[in-house]
Amino acid sequence: MKAVLVRKPYGEENAGIAEVPDPVPQRDEIVVKVQYAGLNPIDINVVRNKTVYGLKPDPHIPGSEISGVAETSGKNIKKGDRVILYSRWFDGTCKYCKSGREYLCINGGIFGVLTNGGYCEKISVPEKMLLRIPDGVKIEDAVSIPVGGLTALHALNRTGAAAGEKLLVYGASGNTGLFAIILGMYRGMEVSAVSTKEWVKKYGASAVYRHDKIPADLKADVIINSLGGDIFAESLDHVAPGGKIATFGVFNGANVQVNLAKIYTQELEIIGTTGGTVAEMKVLLEMMQEHSIHLPTDKVFGIDQMKEAIQAYSGRTNGRILLRVQ
Ligand SMILES: [Zn+2]
Repeated sequence: MKAVLVRKPYGEENAGIAEVPDPVPQRDEIVVKVQYAGLNPIDINVVRNKTVYGLKPDPHIPGSEISGVAETSGKNIKKGDRVILYSRWFDGTCKYCKSGREYLCINGGIFGVLTNGGYCEKISVPEKMLLRIPDGVKIEDAVSIPVGGLTALHALNRTGAAAGEKLLVYGASGNTGLFAIILGMYRGMEVSAVSTKEWVKKYGASAVYRHDKIPADLKADVIINSLGGDIFAESLDHVAPGGKIATFGVFNGANVQVNLAKIYTQELEIIGTTGGTVAEMKVLLEMMQEHSIHLPTDKVFGIDQMKEAIQAYSGRTNGRILLRVQ
């Protein structure tokens, strides 16, 4: 089958299409013909070998956010079902899995990082990592759930975000940011966005600010900040006393100088969050069906256009960058 293969010294210049063996399904696995795949910071970091996790194997097939059609049947998933992939390996038996936190599985890791990913024609994964896309939900929309949607929902759940609270979303036009706005709105929150894109208002933000133009008196109960870097430190100025900041990305830098006095004098909480649960992913699929949620797609590339896709992503987009595999 055809696959995107990236090899040392990595970088999009060293990502090309290669012919690799078809996956051989192991016990309890289902073969999925990949259709659409999302492009997220995690994938770009994989292509550049800059993930905060170790990358295996080398050379490597990137791609963590995957949708497709089942080619084989299991207990619940049947051949022909449209599916999305829960992009974490988990054993279901360790103390984290048993406590409902399979995304922290000590024997697991991220699909596309710990193992080859899905920028290829076929993958074979355990049935427990696949969810059927409900009728009426487009596969192009559902493909944004496994990384963007799930990360945003889990971050909101971790902060205990509730109706009536103020939510401030940094990186609002990105995949996780858009979902944070949409989910915050449906939760009954008052949502403000930090972005240069006015169009994010269409998705439920009542106000949009550039990061250096946020009104001084805007104090949010919950902040979603996946950007990291100096913008993370800045966001401490916009948390209400007792408020919470969720962090799950460091695209702008991992090492940040923060004023600890701001944190303890106002009892702020900085909450690390990563991925989410299979149950949360089901909630997202149901919400997408119930509310007919559509995400803007900026551009769709073929898997032979990895470099162009990453360039488009880096060029500040007006919606999702997707890869159409077949
Ligand atoms: Zn486990």
